[in-house]
Amino acid sequence: MQKVSAGKIVIIGAGITGLVIAMELSKKYGKNVLVLEREEYIGGLSATVKRDGLIYDFGSHRLHRDIQQDVRDYIEKTLGVELLKRQRNGKLFFRGRYIHYPPNLFNFLKHFSTSEIMGFIGSYLHNFFQSPASNGLNYHDAMVKAMGSKIYSTFYEGYAEKLWGKNPCDISVDGKRKRVIGDFKTLRRSLHAKSSYYYYPRDGIGSIPDALARKARENKAEIITGAAVRAVKFHNNRVAQLVVEDRQGVCSHIDVGMLISTMPLDDLFKLTLADQTHAPQLEWRGAKLVHALTDQVLTSDTETYYFPGRDITVGRVSDITKYSPYLRAATPGTMLTLEIPLSEGDALWNMDDASLLDICRHDLIKVNIFKKDPRIINYFITRLLKTYPVYTLEWKKTFYSITQQLDQINNIYTIGRGGLYLHCNIDHCIEQGIALAKHLLAGESCDKDAWGSQVKTFLTQSARD
Ligand SMILES: Cc1cc2nc3c(=O)[nH]c(=O)nc-3n(C[C@H](O)[C@H](O)[C@H](O)COP(=O)(O)OP(=O)(O)OC[C@H]3O[C@@H](n4cnc5c(N)ncnc54)[C@H](O)[C@@H]3O)c2cc1C
Repeated sequence: MQKVSAGKIVIIGAGITGLVIAMELSKKYGKNVLVLEREEYIGGLSATVKRDGLIYDFGSHRLHRDIQQDVRDYIEKTLGVELLKRQRNGKLFFRGRYIHYPPNLFNFLKHFSTSEIMGFIGSYLHNFFQSPASNGLNYHDAMVKAMGSKIYSTFYEGYAEKLWGKNPCDISVDGKRKRVIGDFKTLRRSLHAKSSYYYYPRDGIGSIPDALARKARENKAEIITGAAVRAVKFHNNRVAQLVVEDRQGVCSHIDVGMLISTMPLDDLFKLTLADQTHAPQLEWRGAKLVHALTDQVLTSDTETYYFPGRDITVGRVSDITKYSPYLRAATPGTMLTLEIPLSEGDALWNMDDASLLDICRHDLIKVNIFKKDPRIINYFITRLLKTYPVYTLEWKKTFYSITQQLDQINNIYTIGRGGLYLHCNIDHCIEQGIALAKHLLAGESCDKDAWGSQVKTFLTQSARD
């Protein structure tokens, strides 16, 4: 049994999850709530960055249309963030041409010959009648079983390799379950006209964490940026102190009553070990984001361009002013964010910024976003290290070995995308944060076993695109 009131509640990470928890707990515990954030900004992956007159999200961010009504109410009514309802005008680059994304049936089919369509249907039916009902062990097998080899190899195989940087045979079937792009039901659903809208905060996705932080601070919670947690110290099977490094590189000790961590689970575990060299590692995929202001103005309504093919370096391009017309650069032009999924150590990961920008500029012309070479007025590149969980065939063994050991420590909770090693969306993070705060606010009666069954339901959450 844990009593929240036993000491300071320290939350690692000022992303959406950490800030929801801080905001909710600060209503009761006020200045007893402390958030430590390594970066200089709040919002984590859902921040909106304003730099040198430019405005960017960390890649394409939106609230998907099937977000729960109570989460939408929370954002609009509790936080006072205005959500715009926007038409989806995505484009997917396929065989040198663009298909509207999400596709509608008519638009989709007209890009294929009759024999190709018959091939898709034939391969699907072949699978339907021939294959056993089993889901298969790896992503490749599960996808072929679910939709036939033709649809899989045409639409999903290359993208899976690009996103995860691995052969799909080395990805667990959970890669399919945790990302809702990978089954026939999804394909069918995306053909339905209703799928083509989303919600977006008027002033950028980062206005959600900004509002959470403002409200938490109004309740006297403290949020410190530029504060990286470097070590976790124990006393009697409880976290007693954190070692925190500030932006000048100076370390100090902070006493802890309850620790809630949203940082990557394996990174946290490493900080708890005396011998860090043998810490178990979960696999992650990172990304480089190229934020660029170009002189050419894009007049189309398209907000997101998708590039599943392996021949294009960039995976996705987004034009933030099409998400919200209220976001404008200080200088006329187009503010684009180009996402390149990468792992640390890849050649492109180590490449200098100017050379990477050059590759991106060529991609933008190759895929016809610009007709002629755009002049880049201003740009900067962000590196995101642990962005997408890579569900390898062994991930569960490592994940449960870490969580079982952390469960022995009475006053730690891990939560959020990093804390649960979960490929999830913003609304899932809000749900998780509210649920944990509610659980802890239950006070005397809260116990980790009850929380464990709640976590099991979060682990079934899947990211939508
Ligand atoms: C490219 C991209 C596009 C996405 N698009 C969408 C979308 O369209 N719709 C949607 O709903 N979701 C989307 N998501 C998912 C969404 O951004 C995340 O699920 C959500 O922001 C995760 O929030 P979080 O607070 O759990 O984690 P994070 O945002 O990762 O927050 C964790 C925080 O912990 C901090 N931290 C880590 N280590 C330490 C340390 N040692 N000390 C102190 N602080 C530390 C980090 O700096 C970070 O701020 C997207 C994600 C990505 C990467």
